[in-house]
Formats: sequence, structure tokens, C-alpha cells
Amino acid sequence: MNVDEQVSSYYDLLLKRNAGEPEFHQAVAEVLDSLKIVLEKDSHYGDYGLIQRLCEPERQLIFRVPWVDDNGDVQINRGFRVQFNSALGPYKGGLRFHPSVNLGIIKFLGFEQIFKNSLTGLPIGGGKGGSDFDPKGKSDAEVMRFCQSFMTELSRHIGEYRDVPAGDIGVGAREIGYLFGQYRRLVNQHESGVLTGKGLTWGGSLVRTEATGYGLVYLTQEMMAAHGESFSGSKVTVSGSGNVAIYAIEKAQELGATVIGFSDSSGWVECPDGVDVELLKEVKEVRRGRVADYVSEAEGATLHTDGSIWDKPCDVALPCATQNELDGEHAEHLFNNGCRFVAEGANMPSTADAIEVFREKGVHFAPGKAANAGGVATSALEMQQNATRDSWSFEYTDQRLHKIMSNIFRHTADAAAEYGREGDYVVGANIAGFKKVADAMLAQGVI
Ligand code: NDP
Repeated sequence: MNVDEQVSSYYDLLLKRNAGEPEFHQAVAEVLDSLKIVLEKDSHYGDYGLIQRLCEPERQLIFRVPWVDDNGDVQINRGFRVQFNSALGPYKGGLRFHPSVNLGIIKFLGFEQIFKNSLTGLPIGGGKGGSDFDPKGKSDAEVMRFCQSFMTELSRHIGEYRDVPAGDIGVGAREIGYLFGQYRRLVNQHESGVLTGKGLTWGGSLVRTEATGYGLVYLTQEMMAAHGESFSGSKVTVSGSGNVAIYAIEKAQELGATVIGFSDSSGWVECPDGVDVELLKEVKEVRRGRVADYVSEAEGATLHTDGSIWDKPCDVALPCATQNELDGEHAEHLFNNGCRFVAEGANMPSTADAIEVFREKGVHFAPGKAANAGGVATSALEMQQNATRDSWSFEYTDQRLHKIMSNIFRHTADAAAEYGREGDYVVGANIAGFKKVADAMLAQGVI
């Protein structure tokens, strides 16, 4: 069998065994495609069922989450934790609370997390979890009761050396607080290393809130510099207005860019003179409002509920909302309107078609597993602080984050060049992330 046939046979089997999970298939297909050139050069990576083991989670947990709403009615949600790969360290990856959550989505996120965590250079394995619970429109008391029920089951499976969850879509400071409180009560220990994204007075790390957005901008800055450009004077579009988007907007503007648009699931905002970041934080983080609330108070901003944010001309696009939000047609529009750099703050926001357009047209593209790794990297720094009972300053932690993002860009670019695909950061990130995990798995035997 040649490498193409070998990889096709792995993929066909994966489709059969994981039916009805299109996002998981998409994430695996992209990685396997990149690995063909590795298998051609270093055939030992095809030995000992390595690739098949890498695509099969070590453990998948699905559990019932019953809770009582404010009317006294019983609600039932489904909880998930996929512990994908622990060759490099304890499973590490966020929890997502969103009605769209299902096993396939958690598996795609967990699979991506393996390579992302490897790229950070820190000792963390890959996992992901969540629930189809929707925190939107729920009272604080309902969110608390849900989190307590969710953690009652999850607590049996996590721990500082086993699995360390964090936030993701729908899981922010409030949810992490309720989850940690219930864990602490159940195990009767203040085991701070069990969750990251904690509050600053009880084991949290400075910069964790900002980390994914700041890290995204640091990596994009490196990519732009490699092609003779910078954020200064550029026009940037950011999708979403959650944790990642807000801090990407803040850092990009700090570096001299004008962020001319952002969004949420109710519409997108055009703001030619830039974003009022303090107002955006107040609306989104404090009031839990919608983009319309921002527009009603911001000067010169307009709300659009039709068309796409990707139709607006910009120099740099940073998709920071959710998976598959930017398709081939959007990619064509971005290129035709002058966009030359795209970096993913969200996980897999670009479809396979969109990535192909970026490749064909020469748009410089940084995939999420490299570009948004700053969040998990800073979570690992939070774990280091917890382990040594220390807390670092904002400046020091931010410097560590900046250095990690620069290294990720360098390793990604180097891996692409080593395999004859200079400038292809998708291939570079997949290969650089893969090799470290693969070497550890080979060293540790068939388990
Ligand atoms: P948040 O819940 O804080 O924010 C998500 C944002 O995306 C919200 O503004 C939400 O709007 C918007 N959104 C969701 N779906 C859509 C849609 N279909 N169209 C337009 N906007 C939409 O999540 P995060 O910022 O934490 O996460 C965003 C992405 O970044 C996810 O893909 C996540 O996996 C990834 N990520 C997050 C990390 C982190 O540290 N938080 C780390 C690495 C990756 P609305 O409120 O209307 O739903």
C-alpha cells in the first residue's frame, strides 16, 4: 500500500466507526492530509497502529445532568468529557456549554486540542468536554444548579494529574466559579490545579482572561512580520464578541490597527473608526448584552442583521466565534476585497473550502491550533503557579505568553519549510504538533 492508500484506509474506517460526526471527520481529514508527507519521509510513524490510536480517544464519557429550574421543573441535559490523548501530560481542554454541543463536536475539539497543546511546548495532553446546556437566558441560580450537577459526575474523572478542564464557549468566570466550588466541596480539598480560568483570589492567573485573544494577535503579528507587514495602520475584522474576540480587538488596536467590525449570533457591527473596547466589555462581560446594545451607545457604529461580516473590505480577518463560520465564498470575498492575512481565534472557523481558497490565492493563513493556543498555554502557566503556590505579575505572564506564541509560529513555519511546504502554516502546525505526540506515544508502547 502506498501512503495515499494507507491514509485513505485509516480515514474510511474512522468514518464507519464514527458515523454522524461531520466536524470530527473534518478535523481528522485535515490532519491526515498534512501527515502524508511525514509518512512518506518517516515511514515509522505508520507503525504500531500509531495513527489509528491517535484518532481514537483514550476515553469518552457521556452522562446525564439533571437540574431544577426556577419554576421547580426538572431539566435534563447531557454532559460530555472526551479524554483524547495523555501522552504528553494530563488531559487539558475547555468545557463548552452551548445547545449545539454533541459528541462529534466535542471529539473534533478534543482532537484539535492534542496538537495545539503539543505546539505550546508545555506538558499537557488533549481533552475537551461540555454540555448541550444553554446558559443564555438562565438566571444565575439556574446556572449554578446546572454547574453543580454537571460537576457532581465530572468530579470522578478529573484531577490535577489526570484531567484539568477550563472554559470555552458559554463557560466563563461565573461558570468556572460554580464548577470549582462544587468540586472543592465534593473532594473536601482545595485542589486548585483541577480547573483553570479561576478567580484571581483563589488560584487564578493574571492574563488568563486576555490570553487567547492577545496570543492570537501576537502570533498574527509574527506572521505579518514574516511577510513584511504589521498591524500598525491596518484594518481588521473580528467575528464574535466573546472572550477571544474582545481581547483580540483590544490588543490589535493597542498595536495600531483599527478594528472595523465584530459580531455575535444576532448580527454584526460596522464601526469604521474602531471599537470602544471599554464599552464592549461593559455590554458583553458585565451586562451580558447583545451587539445591538453596543450600537445603541457607541458613536458611528451600525448594526447589520443580513449579509456577512466577511464581505467588508479589511487587511486582516480574525474569526473568533465558532466552527465553520467562514466558507469558501466568504474566503473569495475576503481575498477580492484585499484581505491578505487570516488567523483563527476560534476552533476550525474556516471550512476546508475556505482554507483551499486561501492556499490558492496566497492569503497567509494561521490555523486555530497554532493561533489560539495562547489560552491553553496560559492555563498551563496557571497550573505551574498552582503547583508552586505562587502568583506571577501581569507583565511576566504576558511576556511568557508572547514568547510561547513566537515559538509556536517559528516551529510551525520551520516544520512547513522542512517538508517543502514553506508558508503553509496548516501543514506546519499539524506536523509540528503531531511529531512530539507521536514520538511520546512510540516511546510509551502500545497502550
Ligand atoms: P464566548 O462564549 O465567550 O463567545 C463566543 C462568541 O461567538 C459570542 O459572541 C457568540 O455570540 C459568538 N457566536 C457563537 N456562534 C456564532 C455564530 N454562529 N455566528 C456569530 N457569532 C457567533 O466563547 P469564546 O470567546 O471563549 O470562544 C470562541 C471560540 O474560540 C470558540 O471556537 C472556542 O472554542 C475558541 N477558543 C476559546 C478559547 C478560550 O480561551 N476561551 C481558547 C481557544 C479557542 P452569542 O453570544 O450571540 O452566541
